[in-house]
Amino acid sequence: MTCDTANPPTPTDLSERERFGPDPQLTITANLAAVRQRIAAACVRANRDPKTIRLLPISKTVPSKILRTAFAAGIDSFGENKIQEALEKAKQLSDLDVGWSIVGHLQTNKVKFLTQFASELYSLDSLKLASALEKRLAAERRQLDVFIQVNTAEEESKYGVKPDGVSSMIERLSEFPQLRLRGLMTLAIFSAETEQVRKCFRILRELRDTLRDDLPSAACLDHLSMGMSGDFETAIEEGATIIRVGQAIFGARPGGQSPYWPGLGA
Ligand SMILES: *Cc1c(COP(=O)(O)O)cnc(C)c1O
Repeated sequence: MTCDTANPPTPTDLSERERFGPDPQLTITANLAAVRQRIAAACVRANRDPKTIRLLPISKTVPSKILRTAFAAGIDSFGENKIQEALEKAKQLSDLDVGWSIVGHLQTNKVKFLTQFASELYSLDSLKLASALEKRLAAERRQLDVFIQVNTAEEESKYGVKPDGVSSMIERLSEFPQLRLRGLMTLAIFSAETEQVRKCFRILRELRDTLRDDLPSAACLDHLSMGMSGDFETAIEEGATIIRVGQAIFGARPGGQSPYWPGLGA
């Protein structure tokens, strides 16, 4: 692709213009800088090194054209919630060296789409899915980084393994050599009360620490993926190593929270 910086691609669609501004690259660059500052400030409070925190930009609902702009602004990995939307974008951006992560619930029959382009799955939530992934990956002779999604906000969310089920799931995962277990992932309760949110993050960290103490096969749980646009500072304070941030980088999403909290929002 040739890059004519004097003429950044301008969104034509009115709602796109509203969301990303007249110059999306400028908007995304500024948003990204603001997010990095928030990360730095949280790290100061938590006495942590910002280098130990990976920012995974979540690009669901953001059109490929804008992602191209985001790539030009320095973003080289994208997290997506829906597999078909992700695959479509990966095809459209196949000329760019970007990494793709899936962060939303994946149906077993969609595994064949994921292995075409994704390098990470954050929402491993059943052995059935693990088994389907293993089969496909083995046939394709490749591995996949996975994170077990834990339901730390039980009554609120449909997906994720209950905390007391994670240990036996990890033991069974040793049967699946194509899956590289990297850590745990959670979505906190959707609440304006920081302490309620913090409780979810703390459950995830304490669970990880306990598993590591008790289970040799849990030694690989290096990462805690927790924290989104509205709560990543709290997540950093509680030990997050991978934060998943969408709206703070790409602007408010039409439909708001609803894509990951079924039943909430528009
Ligand atoms: C959309 C989404 C995010 C990012 O949420 P924002 O509010 O846009 O930061 C993080 N994790 C998952 C699983 C998501 O679906």
